Amino acid sequence: MKIERVDLIQIKIPIKGHFETSYGRQYDAEKLVLKFYSPDFIVHTDCAAGSVPGFSYETLGTAREILKAYILPAIMGAPLQGPEDFWPRVARFRGHPMAKAAVENALWIMKALEEDMPLARLLGNHQDRVTAGVAIGIQDSAEELLDLVGRYLELGYRKIKMKIKPGADLDRVAAVRRSFPDILLMVDANNAYTLDDQDMIKALDEFNLLLIEQPLAYDDILDHAKLQKELETPIGLDESIPGPYQARVALELQACRAINIKQARVGGLTRAKEIHDLCQAGGVGVWCGGTMETGLGRAVITALSGLPNFTFPNDFSASDRYFARDIVDPEFHLNMDGTISVPQGPGLGVVVNEPVLDGYTVARDVIRI
Ligand code: MG
Repeated sequence: MKIERVDLIQIKIPIKGHFETSYGRQYDAEKLVLKFYSPDFIVHTDCAAGSVPGFSYETLGTAREILKAYILPAIMGAPLQGPEDFWPRVARFRGHPMAKAAVENALWIMKALEEDMPLARLLGNHQDRVTAGVAIGIQDSAEELLDLVGRYLELGYRKIKMKIKPGADLDRVAAVRRSFPDILLMVDANNAYTLDDQDMIKALDEFNLLLIEQPLAYDDILDHAKLQKELETPIGLDESIPGPYQARVALELQACRAINIKQARVGGLTRAKEIHDLCQAGGVGVWCGGTMETGLGRAVITALSGLPNFTFPNDFSASDRYFARDIVDPEFHLNMDGTISVPQGPGLGVVVNEPVLDGYTVARDVIRI
């Protein structure tokens, strides 16, 4: 395979309502879509970096510049065997995992097309559907939260993840549990707390939560280990695990009992698989969360999240969770059993709807060798 041209397409998609985490509130999803041209295939991916450095230090702007100046020149025009040729060419460029993931994933998709098999199969996922879930942002009131939880359960979601922050935590969780005593429920604090908040966090133990996700600092592992010792509820780490090394440290320190594998956060599918395998060997389950990706990213994580150690229910959802119209055909729908089907066509198994993509496009760069 050889990549001869890449279009960097900046898009802005209005999201339904708004989405609030401890990082802030957003009304649009701003993303980069990458269109790769090789002599044999055209492949699209999306980049998870958002418009502000919140969940990650990367932004759409940093990703575009790093891709243009360093990552794309390192791989374009060269004969490549597959994704295994990616890291040797870019490892000297530190950081920027989301930018790297957008390129490495394209090589995985091209490899799957060459082999005429679904990406899922190439990754070792033999499931035809994977668990889904919905992440609910912080609402202005407990009533609005309860209303939303009820609506998503009616749509068929079996697992609810609610975002929490100081001032919108214990009472909100108690209210949801009172109204929905038996649902699969977890919370995500997006690093809004410190060990000084230990009493509140320990009080969450009484609500039979699946997980408490990333309660402490975004780069912390040590304090999470201290906190996990005090908690019955499993801690799940997200932001603290930017790569396999941090996963090893977390396992060694018993800082968590689950890891949220977001392939974009860790630099793409190769490293995501590596973390999956490390966790499996260490007896720690994983799950897959979303990054408000388009259908392109959704297809990638759907393909990944049927690997055997995804033992916790995922919390990515169908296309219509955020978008009135996704950029891919077919869009992702929720099955009656609360799952999402794994695309079974060769490669990504979904295609970009060009008129829809054009409608969301705000800028385009064309990079040629
Ligand atoms: Mg999270």
